[in-house]
Amino acid sequence: MSTDDTDADSNDETATPVDEPDDEHHDFWAEGVADEIETRVAEQRETTDDASGEERPASSSPNDPIVIKGGVSPSGVAHLGNVNEIMRGYFVAEALRDRDHEVRQVFTSDDRDPLRKLPRKLADPDGQIVGLGEVDAGALGRNLGKPYTDIPDPFGERDSYAAHFAALLEADADRLGVDIEMYSNTELYGEGAFDPVVERVLDRVDTAREVLSEYQAKADDDYVPFNPICEECGKLTETVTDIDLDAETVDYVCTDMEVGDETIEGCGHEGTATFREGKLPWRFEWPGQWQVLDVDFEPFGKDHAEGSWPSGVDIAENVLGIEPPVPMVYEWFTLNGEALSSSAGNIVTVPELLELLEPEVIRYFFALYPKKARDLDLSRLDQLVDDFDRFEEAYYEGVDDESVTAFAEAAYPYVVGNVADERPIRLPYTFAAVLGMVDDRGLREKLARDEGHIPDDADEATVEAALARVEQARNWAERMDNAYNYRLQADLPDVAFDDATSDALDALADVVAAGHDGETIQSEIYDTARDHGIEPGDLFEAGYRLFFDETQGPRLGEFLGDLEQEFVVGRLRRER
Ligand SMILES: [Zn+2]
Repeated sequence: MSTDDTDADSNDETATPVDEPDDEHHDFWAEGVADEIETRVAEQRETTDDASGEERPASSSPNDPIVIKGGVSPSGVAHLGNVNEIMRGYFVAEALRDRDHEVRQVFTSDDRDPLRKLPRKLADPDGQIVGLGEVDAGALGRNLGKPYTDIPDPFGERDSYAAHFAALLEADADRLGVDIEMYSNTELYGEGAFDPVVERVLDRVDTAREVLSEYQAKADDDYVPFNPICEECGKLTETVTDIDLDAETVDYVCTDMEVGDETIEGCGHEGTATFREGKLPWRFEWPGQWQVLDVDFEPFGKDHAEGSWPSGVDIAENVLGIEPPVPMVYEWFTLNGEALSSSAGNIVTVPELLELLEPEVIRYFFALYPKKARDLDLSRLDQLVDDFDRFEEAYYEGVDDESVTAFAEAAYPYVVGNVADERPIRLPYTFAAVLGMVDDRGLREKLARDEGHIPDDADEATVEAALARVEQARNWAERMDNAYNYRLQADLPDVAFDDATSDALDALADVVAAGHDGETIQSEIYDTARDHGIEPGDLFEAGYRLFFDETQGPRLGEFLGDLEQEFVVGRLRRER
């Protein structure tokens, strides 16, 4: 697959969520990727059969299960952006399993990376975002420059900061129904899995420098692609002065090291480290992971596409002597129109999102074509849910857009996991939000039945499942504080009105008692106000006080039209 990003209309988030337009063979992108992986596996089998393979690592047998990888360096908060890679890999894994392949989905926690700066936010063990003030930030500050696995868990539960972060990610994957095998880089180094890679890179250090110098200026004649952990200060450092391949050690001086924009200060110590007591720089570590974990496919974000992917391919082929995996570049999504950013607070976690959406809706979001930039606009989750509902409808009944129907036929089974025999009963999300203004479960059900959203013959379990969305829509209304964030008052609030307003309310009660729909009640509110010589706005406000104990609210007439007539009449008359 091309790693070029040729998506010209990448900001058009409202376009129909169809599959890759230029893929003529499949209606779901994951199937096209699965084709590429099958081709790779078949070619590897041929290479091995020919016995012409050059020094392929012993672990790389084409009969192994197909391995799909993702990975992330621990950071402040495990959030939905990290899930992108997991979900993209998942759909490809499912497409391959559907073709009777055995597939492992592995995910590396790149946890020998150093903590470079204090995160502003962390996620607690339940995945809730907290500020640094709620943890021992001093312990983090004292450990800058050390691997994440050597830093205490700020919440005091796990072995390390890294273990805390990995547990969050694993829990997120689990919540979304994806089974991943987590690997700790530190453990892989510690148990010697990287030994052959480190040995090969250091054995060919001239070639390694030459290859890297095509991509990075720092690869000068002294450069050694191995970062020992200083035995004195515990920080990662980079000045390797000697390599002993037989002893599998390096000598080093603990000097300052530039990592990204940050400088890790060295302590000046001179020491010796084994190949297990350090790490490869990322540009070598990534292809090293492909070898160690025998990776066949890896999706990654655009940042890597321009940086470490081309150098990784070069290093894989010309330093390690392995075939790089099949790549797939996915677009980052934005949240509320802005880039995801832990430090700027523009993130949402999986547990937070699951308070607002069903897991299948989140999975649907990631089933959409990955090379197109999308925005997850929390204020318009109703649109996302509507899209999902249409996608579901397309699978069961077809819709008037062929591309949506074809996409649904191919992707829906992977999105929901278990396909029900009959199309599930779903309340439209905004209607569910209206029901969320009402606390009474029985009234919610009645309103949903009256509006025809629950069929007459629905059994109790079906009703229960349909009403589950009301809680999510209600959480959404609260979180966004939007037009649905009101609560119908079960008891008459403490109100007092002047005579004109009282008379107008009584007149409005008579209108409702005569039986009218919401639209009519809405226009009658205006007429009634005028008839009684008061401003319509004042009559609306009186209504909001009576029903919500607020001075504003949703479209009142339509809302009252949805409620039980007797209740509305009694409330307008201030009797109940
Ligand atoms: Zn040191």
